[in-house]
Amino acid sequence: MLGDQLSTALASLRDVGRPDATVLMMEVWDEATYVRHHKKKIALIFSAMRHFAGELRDAGWRVDYVTLDDPDNTGSFTGEVVRAAERLDASAIRTVAGGEYRVRQDQETWEQRTGLPTDILEDDRFVCPLADFFTWANARSEHRMEYFYRDTRRRTGLLMTADAKPAGGKWNFDHDNRDTPPRGVNYPSPERFEPDTITRDVLALVGARFGKHFGDLEPFALPVTRAQALVGLKHFVATALPDFGRYQDAMIAGQDYLFHSSLSLCLNLGLLSPIEVCEAAVAAYERGDAPINAVEGFVRQIIGWREYIRGMYWWDMPQFATRNALKATRPLPEFYWTGETDMRCVAQSVDQTRREAYAHHIQRLMVLGNFALLAGIDPAQVSDWYLVVYFDAYEWAELPNVVGMSQFADGGMIASKPYVSSGAYIDRMSDYCGRCRYDVKKKTGPDACPFNALYWDFLARHERRFRPNARMRNMYGTWDRFGPERQAEYRASATAFLDTLEPAAKGWARG
Ligand SMILES: Cc1cc2nc3c(=O)[nH]c(=O)nc-3n(C[C@H](O)[C@H](O)[C@H](O)COP(=O)(O)OP(=O)(O)OC[C@H]3O[C@@H](n4cnc5c(N)ncnc54)[C@H](O)[C@@H]3O)c2cc1C
Ligand code: SF4
Repeated sequence: MLGDQLSTALASLRDVGRPDATVLMMEVWDEATYVRHHKKKIALIFSAMRHFAGELRDAGWRVDYVTLDDPDNTGSFTGEVVRAAERLDASAIRTVAGGEYRVRQDQETWEQRTGLPTDILEDDRFVCPLADFFTWANARSEHRMEYFYRDTRRRTGLLMTADAKPAGGKWNFDHDNRDTPPRGVNYPSPERFEPDTITRDVLALVGARFGKHFGDLEPFALPVTRAQALVGLKHFVATALPDFGRYQDAMIAGQDYLFHSSLSLCLNLGLLSPIEVCEAAVAAYERGDAPINAVEGFVRQIIGWREYIRGMYWWDMPQFATRNALKATRPLPEFYWTGETDMRCVAQSVDQTRREAYAHHIQRLMVLGNFALLAGIDPAQVSDWYLVVYFDAYEWAELPNVVGMSQFADGGMIASKPYVSSGAYIDRMSDYCGRCRYDVKKKTGPDACPFNALYWDFLARHERRFRPNARMRNMYGTWDRFGPERQAEYRASATAFLDTLEPAAKGWARG
């Protein structure tokens, strides 16, 4: 059982007599360091694994748990499977396919490495089986999430009326979801959980062994058990879901979570299932406790985006990992790791990421991702950064979001146009700009918001690719109206800014 498979509903546990099987769980060095994950993320996974092993034992399973500091630990999944096969005198191996391509490749070797029949079962914790996703994807030249999402609504019956129509009369209520919260709003915050002895042991281990990795280890208040995950889900539905929709795109300094759920952590570890999370939201809608725009938006994120992203990952791997359609080669700037930049939106988002191992979708997409895309940063380096820093970052979820949605390095497989904006969007959706050293209203020059010149410079650099895109016609219309002199000013201002970027020191992401 892998560290992100912490569910008693896992396929490999089904139809197995408890006395006949041993559940092997292992903390391995290779997984914690193939990129140098945020300290909080490592602690989260190890603590959740240790708690889950205890729950399995309480439920009558025999568990063979290899800790990181076990002197015989070989440091790799495959090494530990081979060792366990001998130690346990095993006759067969059952495992559920890993979520990441790299792990799946490892699993494929286990039969040959151990000489034991090895069953690699499909991970059916997802709503859409991969075979069905591939059928959907192979039948189309364009793979927009919205159509996949409608099929998934029909498949699950979530937010569908008895006569097979979408609840509320529309499939998508995004149009109602663009508000910035007025002053004086009471912001909810996710439930926090006091570390118990198991977590405190893990914190000590991670502090000692991974002290040089990015991010703050403490305070640590994340859910590490299913019981805590359920408390967190209930708390989200009661306190944040009703406003989840309308303030979904907002960013407020000092408000790390706003009305977001932070449930990606529990979903990706297996502590919660996507269907039960959606059902809890739909029940709130049916009780009249949350409006349709909030609940539809939330359900779409989970059975739409989450499933679609995972499908696209497996559909395109291994090519996805090396895609670079815009030929971006600039190194990742050091401030992604230190937060030391005068751009307040970036500094705030990095600071929060360092403290919490969390930033919400719009910070990831329209601040940190937007900057990397405008500045032409190598998507592989951007992807490594995201994989390191977020508590929910597993390659199946991270890579398509970063390389595809955010960096357009897939050439438009996921997004129909690049997610780029000037400072005006960030100003409209956040309170960052008011206290920034840059002036969001200024377009060029040393005091102008860097996003402004970078935005036009990006469009100019990629004119051949994007001018024919109907959805970008207005942007190029504006660019044309600037005329050559103003265009040259924008481009010179962008170049002057880009020349100041200091590349990240080696070793932050990979040792
Ligand atoms: C550049 C970039 C990198 C990202 N990296 C990851 C990642 O490594 N892991 C990850 O789980 N999500 C990733 N996302 C998607 C999304 O930002 C996070 O799932 C979300 O911010 C998690 O916070 P939350 O639980 O508060 O989400 P909420 O806003 O409360 O959304 C509810 C749930 O919907 C799901 N979801 C929403 N959008 C997506 C999406 N685009 N892809 C997958 N699931 C989605 C998540 O499970 C999330 O918990 C990334 C997005 C971007 C733009
Ligand atoms: S002015 Fe520009 S750099 Fe500063 S916070 Fe606003 S968008 Fe970010």
